[in-house]
Amino acid sequence: MSADSQTLYSQLPSVDTLLRDETFQPLLENYGAQLVTQTLRRLQQQARDSIRVQQQLPAWCENWALAVDHQLSLSQKDALQQVFNLTGTVLHTNLGRALLAEQAIDASVMAMRHSVTLEYDLDGAGRGHRDRAIADRLCELTGAEDACIVNNNAAAVLLMLAALASHKQVIVSRGELVEIGGAFRIPDVMLQAGCELTEVGTTNRTHLKDYRQAINENTALLMKVHTSNYAIQGFTSAVEEAELVTLGRETGVPVITDLGSGSLIDMAAYGLPAEPMPQKLIADGVDLVSFSGDKLLGGPQAGIIVGKRALIEQLQNHPLKRALRCGKMTLAALDATLQLYQQPEKLAQALPTLRHMTRTEAEIHACAERLLPPLQQRFAKQFNVSITPCQSQIGSGSLPVDRLPSIAITLMPHSGKGGELEALSQQCRALSRPVIGRISEGKLWLDLRCLEDEKGLLHALLQELRP
Ligand SMILES: *Cc1c(COP(=O)(O)O)cnc(C)c1O
Repeated sequence: MSADSQTLYSQLPSVDTLLRDETFQPLLENYGAQLVTQTLRRLQQQARDSIRVQQQLPAWCENWALAVDHQLSLSQKDALQQVFNLTGTVLHTNLGRALLAEQAIDASVMAMRHSVTLEYDLDGAGRGHRDRAIADRLCELTGAEDACIVNNNAAAVLLMLAALASHKQVIVSRGELVEIGGAFRIPDVMLQAGCELTEVGTTNRTHLKDYRQAINENTALLMKVHTSNYAIQGFTSAVEEAELVTLGRETGVPVITDLGSGSLIDMAAYGLPAEPMPQKLIADGVDLVSFSGDKLLGGPQAGIIVGKRALIEQLQNHPLKRALRCGKMTLAALDATLQLYQQPEKLAQALPTLRHMTRTEAEIHACAERLLPPLQQRFAKQFNVSITPCQSQIGSGSLPVDRLPSIAITLMPHSGKGGELEALSQQCRALSRPVIGRISEGKLWLDLRCLEDEKGLLHALLQELRP
């Protein structure tokens, strides 16, 4: 070892000395002795490595407390960070889909804090499973006989298939062999559920006779899948549920529908593109309908199955139900969300998802006008900041073709350099509350449809962003 290195090693303070130093007292109070000591040991090792390899101390050795604080604040970041969703996608799967109503949040918090009647009847009637009370509400809302609630809609589809069609044939149109976000593909789910998939018709046209011809003694289900993230246009034909139900009745084969999103309200009444409603399919006689809790419904992640009592009972009694069931926080939030649907007048205000979808262009424009002057002042040197019309989408496999006219603040580098744009977008994502927009046509687009905390956004972009 060189004399120089030896001098450097001797300059490293001991862990005990540092822990006694007054600069460490706030850290000890904040993070506790174990975590601080662990971090300190790791940093000391880094310092020793630096001496060994480069014969020098790292710069941060000048202030050990600051270095530890920096390390800890990086590693103590929550796994789920709050962000501004300015992507223009209201139900963004990667950003957690629906934002819940305050009533649902309160209900969920209550269930976390207190013991609740999850599977307990106060009247001693012994009604059984944890879905009971919510199932009753779902029946009221959809006209179904009974309901079953699981972890998400993918689980709902798996459970329906496994419980009703294992080792049996399920008939699906070739136009409806959907893939939702990579991992969920109808043929793969069939395989997992042990079903034999029989494809009928063609990609663009399927007729009732196609289903009829495929039915045999091993057929367990006729299945419809809502093509929620694509549309087949042009020379097309599909068999509606009502028609399929007639065939199902005739042949004694139940009809099930994976609706994907499914809206309990008539979206058209809110000026939005129409989406199929579970209650309509139940009225058409479909035996089971499944849909998501956190798509258009605007509730927690859940899979909801409504339909015939005898079939729901088979789902409830299947061993997979136990593996796929929801926890109390989810059930509390779902019930509170469904209660809002029983007071439809309040829905558009109470449900953030619906509130964001129904926000008018004029409202969003007014918001953009409030934001523009301070943002222009802050970014004008480097970027052309403007108010630009854009198109939001609902997302999460809801209404794939339809767009909602919206307004964005766009930032375009005067230099026209993509690198500057990427750097800005990167800085926005590095904020303590990251701002997530999207880059297209040489601009960073901040779609304001889902922005409610204008002050918070301005604070992030004006105070926090490095110039
Ligand atoms: C979204 C969707 C699913 C999956 O639902 P999750 O709630 O994401 O599990 C399944 N089928 C269809 C048609 C969908 O749109």
